[in-house]
Amino acid sequence: MKKVAILGSTGSIGCSTLSVIEANSDLFSVSLLAAESNSELILKQGKNFNSKYFYLNNEFASNHLNSQINSLKLDSKVLNEEDYLNFIASDEVDIVVAGIVGVAGLKPIHRALCSGKRVLLANKEAYVVAGELLNQMAERNNSTIFPIDSEHSAIHQCLSGNSDTSGGVKRIILTGSGGPFLNKDLSTFHQITPEEAVNHPIWNMGQKISIDSSTMMNKGLEVIEAKWLFGIDSQKIEILVHPEGIIHSLVEFEDSSLIAQLSLPDMKIPIAYGLGFPTRISSNSERLNLEEMGSLNFSKPDLKKFPSIEIARSCLEAGGTAPSLLNAANEEAVQAFLDKRIIFTQITEIIAFVMDTITTKAVKELETVFEADSLGRESARNYIGKIQK
Ligand code: NAD
Ligand code: MG
Repeated sequence: MKKVAILGSTGSIGCSTLSVIEANSDLFSVSLLAAESNSELILKQGKNFNSKYFYLNNEFASNHLNSQINSLKLDSKVLNEEDYLNFIASDEVDIVVAGIVGVAGLKPIHRALCSGKRVLLANKEAYVVAGELLNQMAERNNSTIFPIDSEHSAIHQCLSGNSDTSGGVKRIILTGSGGPFLNKDLSTFHQITPEEAVNHPIWNMGQKISIDSSTMMNKGLEVIEAKWLFGIDSQKIEILVHPEGIIHSLVEFEDSSLIAQLSLPDMKIPIAYGLGFPTRISSNSERLNLEEMGSLNFSKPDLKKFPSIEIARSCLEAGGTAPSLLNAANEEAVQAFLDKRIIFTQITEIIAFVMDTITTKAVKELETVFEADSLGRESARNYIGKIQK
């Protein structure tokens, strides 16, 4: 029985993970549930999965959960931040599912990797900003970073169950649906509302990644994620638009063979692959029926409509703190758009401004990443403040 800590348990990835665990209750138990503030849902999850330890990042919500537990006389505990990080590093945890959104998930991932854990990575932002450092941590402490982002899970599967691209790999092809505005005229992009942007045509995800998909920044971040995961030259990582979301990515080899992984677009499938690896376990998902699918379509991404892809690529080339600045500016801009403080086209404008005005530094320690994150956010907020005046 493997003990699983679910970080971001109340979110889309967290709930999908619990659904996979439910289908494999003889293989996995849940030892820790962590989230931002949804005390009602986390308590319900705790009861359903017999998980005794909780962490909520919001103090008010954390106190509320504590009083609920006391009044119900439950044998459970709400941890403070220090105890939460210690718990992740303890023998009570074998597998950490990293499903927190944004750079907020970096500290617990770092802690897990410093203590020999197997980290199933959905939280791409944390890895984008500190990929090299986290890889070193994993190697030094015999930990594993295992992708559950669907594209990277697909690539792992195309590489016959490992992350080694040294053996005759010519290209990695990351597929992407193109998001809700694939066929929308660029001249109307300034009218896009948050409600339209979060309405993804095939994936049902949290708000932040849904906005990233609508700007295609999600694909840009995934190029960086792929570079850190598979150690391949970034020129060999390509993006292919595939609106049906059935082929989750491909690998092309020296002999011109292409290997692809197919399934319905359901995150429970890559999560089950990560939890069970090397054994294939039930994903609690529907099966893909290709006869019913009809045709699959492919095209090149439109880089004029979706400049985020090239901005992310140039950050990867620049290295150091560039991905941290990119991510910080993007997180701030996405939130401002969701709050209707800026318009859709200003998201990339803000990111480009931050990248142009802040000088990047080499990253030797985590502190530098956090400093760049603060600088990037401050610069983005100032710019957003000026736009609003
Ligand atoms: P979501 O908004 O649905 O869930 C985010 C979770 O993180 C919530 O449980 C929230 O409470 C928690 N959280 C936020 N800040 C926290 C903090 N400081 N401490 C503890 N918990 C915190 O988001 P999601 O769609 O589940 O995405 C999570 C991550 O997985 C993102 O990085 C996203 O890019 C990645 N991802 C998601 C999908 C998907 O299908 N949803 C697919 C691939 C990758
Ligand atoms: Mg993805």
